[in-house]
Amino acid sequence: MLSTMQDVPLTVTRILDHGVRVHGTSQITTWTGEGDPHRRTFAETGARVAQLAHALHDDLGIRGDDRVATLMWNNAEHVEAYFAAPAMGAVLHTLNLRLPAEQLTWIVRHAADRVIIVNGSLLPLLAPLLPGLETVEHLVVSGPGDRSLLDGARPQVHEYEDLIAGKPTTYDWPELDERQAAAMCYTSGTTGDPKGVVYSHRSIYLHSMQVNMTQSMGLTDADTSLVVVPQFHVNAWGLPHATFMTGVNMLMPDRFLQPAPLAAMIESERPTHAAAVPTIWQGLLAELTARPRDVSTLTQVTIGGSACPPSLMKAFDDLGMRVCHAWGMTETSPLGTVARPPAHVEPGSDEEFAYRLTQGRFPAGVEARLTGPGGEQLPWDGKSAGELEVRGNWIAGAYYGGADADGEPLRPEDKFSEDGWLKTGDVGTISPDGFLTLTDRAKDVIKSGGEWISSVDLENALMSHPDVAEAAVVAVPDDKWGERPLATVVLKEGSSADFETLRDFLAEKVAKWQLPERWTIVPAVPKTSVGKFDKKVLRKQYADGDLDVTQL
Ligand code: AMP
Repeated sequence: MLSTMQDVPLTVTRILDHGVRVHGTSQITTWTGEGDPHRRTFAETGARVAQLAHALHDDLGIRGDDRVATLMWNNAEHVEAYFAAPAMGAVLHTLNLRLPAEQLTWIVRHAADRVIIVNGSLLPLLAPLLPGLETVEHLVVSGPGDRSLLDGARPQVHEYEDLIAGKPTTYDWPELDERQAAAMCYTSGTTGDPKGVVYSHRSIYLHSMQVNMTQSMGLTDADTSLVVVPQFHVNAWGLPHATFMTGVNMLMPDRFLQPAPLAAMIESERPTHAAAVPTIWQGLLAELTARPRDVSTLTQVTIGGSACPPSLMKAFDDLGMRVCHAWGMTETSPLGTVARPPAHVEPGSDEEFAYRLTQGRFPAGVEARLTGPGGEQLPWDGKSAGELEVRGNWIAGAYYGGADADGEPLRPEDKFSEDGWLKTGDVGTISPDGFLTLTDRAKDVIKSGGEWISSVDLENALMSHPDVAEAAVVAVPDDKWGERPLATVVLKEGSSADFETLRDFLAEKVAKWQLPERWTIVPAVPKTSVGKFDKKVLRKQYADGDLDVTQL
């Protein structure tokens, strides 16, 4: 028997309509550096989304599933593109502005982007690439920046505001199939070609509902979310869509991502929530320690993208900002787990802190299993470590197109199991009550004499030393043991801890056989395009003899 229920497609258009009608007075505030921030309501945004869609359709000839790319900071215009392209049936492609030039070119060509909406301040990055971007017919430039960089450029150049000016403020949005592509994002993978993940209207809709659940971010229209995680990094973790469902106000930092302006915008705009990777929070913590500010409104901080060091969580707790740790990937939209402790644990207890440090619990929409080295399924006993595999309503089942984007989906064996689950490449355990603890990326695990050493455990232990600002641990070849850990340490300004002291400190926290023999001080840990430790670079620096290593 079929159900008697209506079958209304789950679309980004519905999220937009709802935000504009029901939460029309909620605001998107964009930081401008100097002077007043720029403010626009959801209702005003809705009108401009319609105008942008008219411009894309009537003036730039966007049809069907044409790709509309953005090379933008987090700001109100970027949110407009987030809704206009998918609602008109096209595909939004967010470009990562921190990728090396060749990768950016490769991605634009692979996705066959026809239009790039670009912030003026990013023209120095884009202009030199234009000769290689044959598919791009139009550039739409928004915000301050030197337009003369585009003199003689081949794509037609348009001013964002001029293009949308005078266009109708409503749009007769098409009926869409919910399984249709709405947005795409390439993985920031540090090996091989980037891989395109294509989100459907349905996956975005369901993911947004999950983001809004109390067990996830649980925000309401009384909240303002400081969206630091870039809109090109997995759709800013789904926040622009989720906020339009619930009327959460958005505070957008634009290009002002340094610790000092972030602290200033928190003090003056008084957000209640913020989301970013640990690197950003480490920087903000140092800033707030050096120059204290009133950040008392910011009581909920979502941290993900890399493991949250316990020392960071503790320091933020002390500042009254409660960290909520979460795990996800480009392939998982990204929300995979959120670390909200179960009801029975006592608030403030060690047990609660331990739960908060895990990557968290899976929501109903994400099924998980752990696979051992021989392909066997491992129990959820909190001890058996294996590769995490997931499947669900907002999890990728393939990548976009073959090498020449020929329309055939890509399902590499190392990324998808035979029965269609996503192999995350993350290694960890799951407790009987469903909490995930990641010990490493499969490729970062240190295999020493047949035993595995978790680089994350060593890093967390090191970063809890008061003199250590950052620490990354990587596997390096060792004649006797196969691999051994190399500790790369960034010391806090003015501190002078020596390696013996740090090793003795570690010895109190990890098993003796795990203690690194090789140590080096670096000015900063190399970072990937989305701000994570770039261990591939560290391993190469070591192999090339570029690090000054002390053997203890
Ligand atoms: P990306 O697709 O760039 O977001 O990278 C996804 C990867 O980031 C995951 O597969 C994990 O290895 C890592 N990651 C994300 N969140 C966490 C977390 N909370 N703890 C540890 N690793 C994380």
